[in-house]
Amino acid sequence: KPHIHLQIQISLFGDDDRLIVARDVTRLTQLEQMRRDFVSNVSHEMRTPLTVLNGYLETLLDSVDDVAPKWRRPLETMNRQAGRMEALIKDLMLLSRLETDEHQMDDEITDVRKLLEQICQDARALSGDRAHQIELSIDDRHFLYGDEGQLRSAFSNIVFNAVKYTPDSGLITVHWVTDRDGAHLSVTDSGIGIDPIHIPRLTERFYRADPSRHQDTGGTGLGLAIVKHVLLNHDGQLEITSHPGEGSTFICHFPRRRITESPEAA
Ligand code: ADP
Repeated sequence: KPHIHLQIQISLFGDDDRLIVARDVTRLTQLEQMRRDFVSNVSHEMRTPLTVLNGYLETLLDSVDDVAPKWRRPLETMNRQAGRMEALIKDLMLLSRLETDEHQMDDEITDVRKLLEQICQDARALSGDRAHQIELSIDDRHFLYGDEGQLRSAFSNIVFNAVKYTPDSGLITVHWVTDRDGAHLSVTDSGIGIDPIHIPRLTERFYRADPSRHQDTGGTGLGLAIVKHVLLNHDGQLEITSHPGEGSTFICHFPRRRITESPEAA
């Protein structure tokens, strides 16, 4: 039997009066589900042909000496663009999984110290010759109830963005702090910054602060949408502040009940 979805709003007036409004959102919920299924199916269907294309492109590039010189540049471009498409499909699939998987992940414990150390190391590799200075500090309470894979996607998107949007040899600091309110991951960069008018919309899919500037960063445009969903799944919140031309700070807040003292405390 199909479910009926109702949205109920209760307003209080004075001591006794109440206004209750019930809205039937069944159709809306169904459409939303259809959209998710569609995106998920399309990404799945596109993955196989793309894997085949990529396989042949890699083989051709491995034996580039056998390829006529005039085809080398086009081959490299095809390989790069196919790589972008692969990243896009991977992110789309991850996003559909995150949207359907909105369950509580209370019994898994993630060692945030280990996770952030790995992510910063990957970020240094991504920076390479661009020589960003990446600093990491973590306080003693660094175990979090939550899904390690999801947290890895979220945190690495934020840290890699800091590298992408910060000029060469810029400073990036990654701090994990806990206090009475909970745990907070803050990532600050000395990069190009974001005009405040864009900030409220940054977690929308494919929203970009300034499309013309971002042609070469190689992002999928889905990174911060992924961050938002991972935080939703972990009762967390994202805070973004920025000064254009000076840099940005992205903070992930987690409630206190998500922190645990030791990896065994489940
Ligand atoms: P993208 O793949 O384009 O980086 P994201 O969803 O990760 O997509 O980010 C959305 C947009 O937010 C980016 O296109 C960029 O305009 C802006 N942005 C994200 N992180 C930063 C940052 N650290 N500094 C400046 N702009 C940023």
